[in-house]
Amino acid sequence: MLNEKMIEMGENSSVIRELFEYGNKRKAEIGEDKVLDFSLGNPNVPCPERVTRSFYYLLEEVETPQLHGYTSAPGDIQVRKTISDYINERYEIGCEPSDFYMTAGAAASLAIALRSVCSEGSNVIVFTPYFPEYKVFSENAGAAVVEVPVRTEDFQPDFDKLAEALGPDTAAVIVNSPNNPTGAVLTEESMKALADILGEAQQRFGTEIFLISDEPYRELVYDGVKPALPVDYYDNTIVCYSWSKSLSMPGDRIGYIMVSPRAERRKKVFSAICGSGRSLGYVCAPALAQYVVAMNQGITSNLEEYAKNRQLIYEIVTDCGFEAVRPDGAFYLFVKSPSGDGKEFSERAKKYELLLVPSDSFGIEGYVRISYCVDQKQIERSAEAFRGLAADYGLI
Ligand code: PLP
Repeated sequence: MLNEKMIEMGENSSVIRELFEYGNKRKAEIGEDKVLDFSLGNPNVPCPERVTRSFYYLLEEVETPQLHGYTSAPGDIQVRKTISDYINERYEIGCEPSDFYMTAGAAASLAIALRSVCSEGSNVIVFTPYFPEYKVFSENAGAAVVEVPVRTEDFQPDFDKLAEALGPDTAAVIVNSPNNPTGAVLTEESMKALADILGEAQQRFGTEIFLISDEPYRELVYDGVKPALPVDYYDNTIVCYSWSKSLSMPGDRIGYIMVSPRAERRKKVFSAICGSGRSLGYVCAPALAQYVVAMNQGITSNLEEYAKNRQLIYEIVTDCGFEAVRPDGAFYLFVKSPSGDGKEFSERAKKYELLLVPSDSFGIEGYVRISYCVDQKQIERSAEAFRGLAADYGLI
């Protein structure tokens, strides 16, 4: 007997994907450069040359079976040591290789981390707007998602609402800074408030509440903004990282989970991560990609390109009279719908060949998301379309 819930999930692809497919259809009809596709978070900045060369080097120099063989379930020990050394050098947190579990990207990291802390009847708190897969992974781990809003003036969490949402069944709170879809970065003040509230709730309920920090955009920050690192503020933190965005290699599927070395039951948490990875079949992340990232610690794609794109798209959109909070990180701009309806905004934008993702996909109404990880020429070409759309709303 087939699982009805899985059929439903398989048949209802995400709105983002639908928009992307619509874009492909339009591109075939009217030409690639006529469609202004801002739908997907697929990095347009190339993977660094030295990363590509690392693949070549390994393929030419390292022999099978090591190259193509299984690594140990949590990842190659030498790879984990290299990563751990780099993280200590950069962030001075006192981690060890045994705190790291290599994964097939941040999505796998999240699915494993959530299953390791949740059981049937648990709650997972997410801040709206949020990456839609949090709900899928939480529910798969037997938990229900509890949505807590952010303050729309700066997209920082609403802490009064968070305090109300916490309860004895809260297993985890997910943060994502820099954020998809708002581009907001958690301030130090927010991190401290979050850590205080969670610490107090753990004491009050006599439970463990894990902070799951989803960090695929960790390096993508602008104007010298320094993201506050959750591990520095809250002990029971589990970091979910990937190189999908920082090295522009989302298709190679490589990331890690790091249990904070300050977690109260550090070793047990790691055992639960291993058990969860095993139960989901997520053991031995792609070996070749593990070796490649280990050879490229501290390297990023040319992130300056995103900084330029951000400036350009922000100016175009706000000069037209649309409202948006200037993003501090990631590569997304979250724009308020002039009609208050995000879906209507996205539909109307299609008339101008603009593909903007409606915000209800992220659990909030009234906005669209622009992914500006696109060729700069596309952003330049979009100015006229945004002006047309603004005129349509009577903004100019
Ligand atoms: N978390 C967030 C917030 C994302 O935006 C994404 C991908 O876009 C992921 C996780 C998944 O990343 P990965 O491709 O490394 O699985």
